Amino acid sequence: TPVIKAVGLVKIYQTGGLPVPAVRGVDLVVEPGEFVAIMGPSGSGKSTFVHMLGGLETRTSGEIWLDGKRADTLSESGWAVLRRQKVGFVFQFFNLVANMTVADNVELPALLGGATPRHARERREYLLAELGLEERAGAAPGQLSGGEQQRVALARALANHPRLLLADEPTGNLDSRNTRDVLKLLGKVHRQGQTIVLVTHDARVASMADRVVSLLDGQIVDDAPIARLQRRP
Ligand code: ADP
Ligand code: ADP
Repeated sequence: TPVIKAVGLVKIYQTGGLPVPAVRGVDLVVEPGEFVAIMGPSGSGKSTFVHMLGGLETRTSGEIWLDGKRADTLSESGWAVLRRQKVGFVFQFFNLVANMTVADNVELPALLGGATPRHARERREYLLAELGLEERAGAAPGQLSGGEQQRVALARALANHPRLLLADEPTGNLDSRNTRDVLKLLGKVHRQGQTIVLVTHDARVASMADRVVSLLDGQIVDDAPIARLQRRP
């Protein structure tokens, strides 16, 4: 079963009565364990597309199947349940809970997903250490830099071993050292079988993917596998 199947996905925003087509009939199938990078110029519909895949933006038409389950017809609350069970997000506006520590923010999805407190803690310790954040575990999100918050959001997204990791520019605000930590962790979880769909402008991020899907004016103009030789020097 594909982790994601989008069929004829369309999004037309209405702004002041004027239709703005953002996504114009996108088909995409992502198999378990695949790492797909979505690229394309600003305004080509990348964010709108991945937000629809996670149910964070409504679609105008088309179908979304998540792990074999029809998702686009779900209610808000149906999506919320499906997301909690199956999807980890790293989106800029998907904020951390301000009055909880970094550690609790990361453990929460695992606990909600039914992990024991010990497993949630071990997973949190592992993820924060991989991202060079172990010393920030007791801090509140507001005490962290933007880049640190972004890395915490990645740790939180992975806490529950989600069926799908969806990310929008996960390295967008990061300096090169932190980008390296994030890429290392993405590569590691990918090798462990994590399915990943992410939007990026960064060629280094894209070079780690199995496929690069290029959007232009809301349509897929290229869908290219990355050769193994190119990926593993
Ligand atoms: P990208 O992520 O590739 O930069 P977006 O998905 O953000 O592209 O935007 C695609 C198009 O949809 C652009 O023309 C953008 O202006 C428009 N758009 C995005 N979000 C909205 C919105 N909330 N309301 C109206 N138009 C939007
Ligand atoms: P990104 O492309 O990185 O998502 P944007 O600056 O395009 O960032 O969008 C930031 C926010 O503004 C998003 O929530 C998007 O939906 C909204 N947005 C983008 N373009 C428009 C637009 N033309 N009209 C209204 N909202 C928009």
